[in-house]
Amino acid sequence: MKPTVDKQINRRELFEGGLLLGVAAFIAGCAGTRQGTLPDPVWPTNKPIRPATPVATTTRPAQPTDYYGLPSGVLPRSQWTNQGIIKGRLTDNGSDGKMGKVLRITIHHDAIDSSGVSTKGDAIHRLNQVRNGHVNRRNEPFADIGYHFIIDPAGRIWEGRSLTLQGAHVKGQNENNLGVMVMGHFDRQRPTAAAVQSLDQFVASQMHRYGIPLSRVKTHQEMAPTECPGRNLQRYMLATRARGGNLARA
Ligand SMILES: [Zn+2]
Repeated sequence: MKPTVDKQINRRELFEGGLLLGVAAFIAGCAGTRQGTLPDPVWPTNKPIRPATPVATTTRPAQPTDYYGLPSGVLPRSQWTNQGIIKGRLTDNGSDGKMGKVLRITIHHDAIDSSGVSTKGDAIHRLNQVRNGHVNRRNEPFADIGYHFIIDPAGRIWEGRSLTLQGAHVKGQNENNLGVMVMGHFDRQRPTAAAVQSLDQFVASQMHRYGIPLSRVKTHQEMAPTECPGRNLQRYMLATRARGGNLARA
């Protein structure tokens, strides 16, 4: 007998249903959800997949592998001067002037009001002013700017004297001593929020880098009879090193 219309439809449905199942299985195989027996297709246009662009993270930037390498974010000396070191003056204290291991950190100010220091150009002018003052001292002129790093009121950090060399910032105690100066006269003004934030972050990073304990992070007046770094920065340094302070928690 001739099949009924219903049966014809049913057959067509069965056929179409089987075709769909086959397509589904093929797609599933391509998607890699089932292990097929055939090798993956190789297309002549296949190209290596480029790695994704690295995503910026909030983790601490990696320190340079070189022991004295310039930390990331620090503006190099070449941005503010092309003057070299006066090498004949590097033999302070009878040493060879080399830094050796970095074992301690001392904080200073330059005792010059920094209210007018805002732009990079302002900071460059001040850095040269400080260096000129140091190399032209009447008594025992320095070989170069005395500090290894300088922080300006905007929080920028500048490279001063190369860290491969001892600084000239605590008379008779420059061996193994990393000198950081914050621009300003902190008996007369307060350090900016940007400056002390940079100071905390930078000092913490150097403590970690060189394994320096908090007890070896001092201010100039804690090592010698001087007003440096001024009462307002001194007060800040006491707070940041006290229990719960930024450096104490670093
Ligand atoms: Zn000082």
